[in-house]
Amino acid sequence: MSEISFLSKTVKWEGLPLVDGFAKGEALVIRSISEYKIEKTDKPILEQKKFKNAIHVLEKSFSMALKKKISDEQRSLLEISKMLLLDRGWNRKIDEIIMQGFTAQTAIYRATEEITQRMSQLQDAYLRERMHDFQDLAGRLLQYLDGNLQEKSLKDIILVAQNLGAAQLMDYDLSKIKGIVLSEGSTTMHLAIVARAYGIPLIGGISNIWEKIKTGEYLALNSTKGILYKNPSDEILDEFYHLKEKQEKQKKLEEKNKKKPSITKDGIKIELGVNLGLADDVLLSNSPAFDKVGLYRTELPFMLAKELPNCTEQIAIYKKVLAHAKGKPVVFRTLDIGSDKILPYTHPLKEENPAMGWRSTRMTLDRRAILRTQLRALIRSVEGAPLYVMFPMIGEISEFLEAKETLDFELNQAKLHNETVPEQIFVGTMLEIPSLFFYLKKYIQVFDFISIGTNDLKQFFFASDRGNRSLTGRYDNLSPAFVDFLNQVQKICQSAHVPCSVCGEMAGNPLEAMVLLGLGFKSLSMNPHSLMQVKIALRNLNQQDFSEFLNRLLETETVSLRPAITAYLRDHQVLED
Ligand code: PEP
Ligand code: MG
Repeated sequence: MSEISFLSKTVKWEGLPLVDGFAKGEALVIRSISEYKIEKTDKPILEQKKFKNAIHVLEKSFSMALKKKISDEQRSLLEISKMLLLDRGWNRKIDEIIMQGFTAQTAIYRATEEITQRMSQLQDAYLRERMHDFQDLAGRLLQYLDGNLQEKSLKDIILVAQNLGAAQLMDYDLSKIKGIVLSEGSTTMHLAIVARAYGIPLIGGISNIWEKIKTGEYLALNSTKGILYKNPSDEILDEFYHLKEKQEKQKKLEEKNKKKPSITKDGIKIELGVNLGLADDVLLSNSPAFDKVGLYRTELPFMLAKELPNCTEQIAIYKKVLAHAKGKPVVFRTLDIGSDKILPYTHPLKEENPAMGWRSTRMTLDRRAILRTQLRALIRSVEGAPLYVMFPMIGEISEFLEAKETLDFELNQAKLHNETVPEQIFVGTMLEIPSLFFYLKKYIQVFDFISIGTNDLKQFFFASDRGNRSLTGRYDNLSPAFVDFLNQVQKICQSAHVPCSVCGEMAGNPLEAMVLLGLGFKSLSMNPHSLMQVKIALRNLNQQDFSEFLNRLLETETVSLRPAITAYLRDHQVLED
């Protein structure tokens, strides 16, 4: 590949470092349907041929997939897709638009817009859902016509897109995805969380990058610095070679520490949890020793499903996680849908502020059947073992009490039907909305545990949209106000003996995680990829000394704690430079 640097000019872009790392590979440009512009052609016959060929290739790929050993559910989905692909009305419409002088891509885009517009008015929910299947198919055809079918022929892939959903990422063979580049993005967007869990470097915020790069072009990205190169020169590739060496060294160090206990230098045991929700088997089997699954995001499997999973389907999902956790506690967070986590089979409301809208527990309390089904599935899935349930986005104590009552109701129903019930149930809350803090002093005893979701907490604390790239980096997790707030929560929980952990992305950042330990938190849950880095750091930390330093620092009139903390942790060899 290095010869490319002689032949083609290196182009460099700077963006936002969202998931640290570096990667090299060939670009795979993903355009969403709305990014296609209307394009005319004077060769409609050629366009028609291209379209027919795309249909043929896709049909063949469906037929091949149907021959493989797949689940009944996958089979019926593939059969539906194949049937819709050959839908006469849709095909005819596309042909007509091409003959009016438009490219195959434009015709697919316009015909799909038209058909989905009509379908969205239908009363029949089943038919309405087929609308998404058409959109899905159109997306695949467009990708093929863009030259992207070559995912199979590309070895190391860098995905390039305007934006990508967390669930969309799962469409790809993740072992081939070496990096992601987006025009949008922020560190706590859900795609970034999932990419981090898989160790996929991610750069965001490079304007219209998907228009400047073509599929197959060679890219190198250093997402720790937020730099992307097209046609990297030999010098750049050399630099990457050294980064690779450094990475190998880090891997060895992690391997060496894998079995060591997570205890600070002065002997304090820290509980380390992992956050899960997608392809848990893969993540857990690669994952180092963890004490528990501190956050299981139940909405993620819901986002990948084709329709709302029923009770039996949910039980199968939860049992699988429990089996992989091998008896370690799994904290199941009830559905946290809304904001940037949209179920593809529901109609999202048009909301001005979806992050502050009808989402999460607010929604499941209003749609009680969804919550009840989920709680029933959770009660059944543990088969008598202890159950940990956590409610997200609680702003009023009454919301928590109502959700807990619903759980009690389902528990009583299970008892009435002589079902096996969990031997113990622990019910906790996420602390993500600052208002809940003001209930803690009076109501702390209603919680069996608290987990601080710093991603949303920070968003609401600073009134700063977590997905808005213009705000990335503006508010620091180590701002004295935020750290002081976390400190107060910790102290209240500690004196009431209510376990309190942190499960936002902050807990997986080694430097920020040390600050949490310095505040007295003894339980952190993070994406599995970060666990070893945090463990290595905490084993170098003298918690008491650092805590004293931190408390002194919090007393001073500093505007940012970060420089002094970074210097301390480096000077004390807790973290490397
Ligand atoms: C959080 O908000 O910090 C959190 C852990 O939940 P999520 O990132 O899924 O919103
Ligand atoms: Mg959250």
